[in-house]
Amino acid sequence: MKMIFLGPPGAGKGTQAERICKDYGVIQLSTGDILRANRKIGTELGAKAQKYMDAGELVPDLIIIDMIREELKKPELASGYILDGFPRTVPQAEALDGLLKDMGQKLDVVLVLEVPDEELVQRLSGRRTDRISGKTFHMIYNPPPPDGNFDLYQREDDKEETVRNRLNVYHNQTKPLIEYYSKQNLAEKIEGKGKIDEIYLGIKSVLDKIK
Ligand code: AMP
Repeated sequence: MKMIFLGPPGAGKGTQAERICKDYGVIQLSTGDILRANRKIGTELGAKAQKYMDAGELVPDLIIIDMIREELKKPELASGYILDGFPRTVPQAEALDGLLKDMGQKLDVVLVLEVPDEELVQRLSGRRTDRISGKTFHMIYNPPPPDGNFDLYQREDDKEETVRNRLNVYHNQTKPLIEYYSKQNLAEKIEGKGKIDEIYLGIKSVLDKIK
């Protein structure tokens, strides 16, 4: 299966994508994770992306499209993938349509996770990431196991002011993609408020229909 995971920052795409990968044998491709990995090892791409990321702005389309073009060529993606955090603008979606056409591939579904803004601000400001495993936790909703060995930190862009900026960017630049993919009959809305397990059941019921 080839799918896109759309939704505002903090909607839980990463957490849900992990489960989807396990149950449906697909690979998660997160542009945010790829960019963060590039920053960590100090590549040119990482350096170019840094100022946009820290301000909660989008990295320019051309940079992201070049990056995803290379990623999609990886042979391990042949069995299916879930794009998490891409596309985020209409030009990115148009570029993706072109790339998929060139590769003879088609999307099966675009999952749209819906969560109200106020809940997102609360969720993101409680989010912590483990430096060792890269796993994310939430200090209230999904705390790390007490017996684990973690080195938790708060992402620069999870601070409240930056979170609000990221939400504005989502509403202005990414939300139009719901309409874009509805026109292609691919968009499936998922209730993203509630317990992680319940949200996943909503996702499963959509995916099991198209499997
Ligand atoms: P995320 O972890 O998906 O919230 O991404 C973190 C940051 O990486 C975003 O706030 C952007 O600065 C950048 N980023 C990730 N994916 C994209 C994308 N598709 N287009 C532009 N910027 C992106």
